[in-house]
Amino acid sequence: MPQLEYRMPRRAGRHFLQIPGPTNVPDRVLRAIDFPTIDHRGPEFAELGKAVLAGMKRVFKTSTGEAVIYPASGTGAWEAALVNTLSAGDRVLMYETGHFALLWQKMAARLGLEVELVPGDWRHGADPEAIEKRLRADGEKRIKAVCVVHNETSTGVTSRVAEVRRAIDAAKHPALFMVDTISSLASIDYRHDEWGVDVTVAGSQKGLMLPPGLSFNCISPRAHAASKSARLPRSYFAWDEMIANGKSGYFPYTPATNLLYGLAEALKMLLDEEGLDSVFARHQRHAEATRRAVRGWGLEVFALDPREYSASLTGVMLPAGHDADRVRKVGLSPMLVAENVGRAYSAGQAHRGFMTSPGHRANVVEPRVTAVGLGIVAGPPENGTIPLFVTELFTEGM
Ligand code: PLP
Repeated sequence: MPQLEYRMPRRAGRHFLQIPGPTNVPDRVLRAIDFPTIDHRGPEFAELGKAVLAGMKRVFKTSTGEAVIYPASGTGAWEAALVNTLSAGDRVLMYETGHFALLWQKMAARLGLEVELVPGDWRHGADPEAIEKRLRADGEKRIKAVCVVHNETSTGVTSRVAEVRRAIDAAKHPALFMVDTISSLASIDYRHDEWGVDVTVAGSQKGLMLPPGLSFNCISPRAHAASKSARLPRSYFAWDEMIANGKSGYFPYTPATNLLYGLAEALKMLLDEEGLDSVFARHQRHAEATRRAVRGWGLEVFALDPREYSASLTGVMLPAGHDADRVRKVGLSPMLVAENVGRAYSAGQAHRGFMTSPGHRANVVEPRVTAVGLGIVAGPPENGTIPLFVTELFTEGM
């Protein structure tokens, strides 16, 4: 019999995951997941299903919208947003805020949509004025949806969603408004109803403090109505059955029961214990500390407009003469407590020399944030190394 070769690498101490996502999962959430799987058609499950759907509506800040939970990564929820609302050949307006905006664009094109991409420099969020201009120019109202990534995980730039909404209104354009909140929900203020968003896309593995594996759509009544005439093929991601089953707390198929236990625990922490406003303030505080440390070390924050600084991760310019791949490799070295230095864009890619710092979110002890998150400072380019300053770690007695 062949033996299963894979083994978790054995290391002393706690694995310290500090990347933009997945984030480290609180012990309480892990313990909640570690509970016997129940019958997903039984009455006990219905209570769990109803509770997590209601909790997610509070996180999205919706009273009129519907929430659905997919056993899928965030990419699944992107697809769900598009296939439920649009038909082949529909035009969608997307804004190039970074890597994830481009991935969503690629998906839209693959699904047979006609994508109009507003080019961006990655150091700014979606520009409401540019969007308004495009929409005003669309006299025939061919654009059926405007899609924006709220928090670009590849750059640390947060788009001003409320202003984009105002731009759509100013242009008097009927397009649906779709927003990816995969790295902002439950970390950065977000208001589905108030900001007039039609479909919000979210994932479990960042602000919600869960492992990867769940994703979400929050659906406005307009988007729900649009789904009735949308013609893109859909089955697994079809909203109608999800919404109908969700009313009684069930799923049309086997749900990720144990992740939902974890979600219930995380929602308790976010909504009923710390409270969303305190969660957002904590992330802002960490982000400000991170930016100050970056500047203190003579490095440059990637985001250029202070209104668009991300509170959940910080992009840092790698000074000329350094190799982003090398920084990443050093960050991954076993000698470090920090297991990863985040997504580094290597030579040859669009944003050569750019890297994002680890996320400063979720379940970290505050003094650690700047210590581990920013243990990277440019060293002398001639030897190609990046000295790593981990001394601040010892403030926590590690
Ligand atoms: N959108 C954003 C902003 C993301 O950060 C990610 C993943 O990091 C995705 C979409 C894709 O989500 P997933 O990798 O869970 O499919």
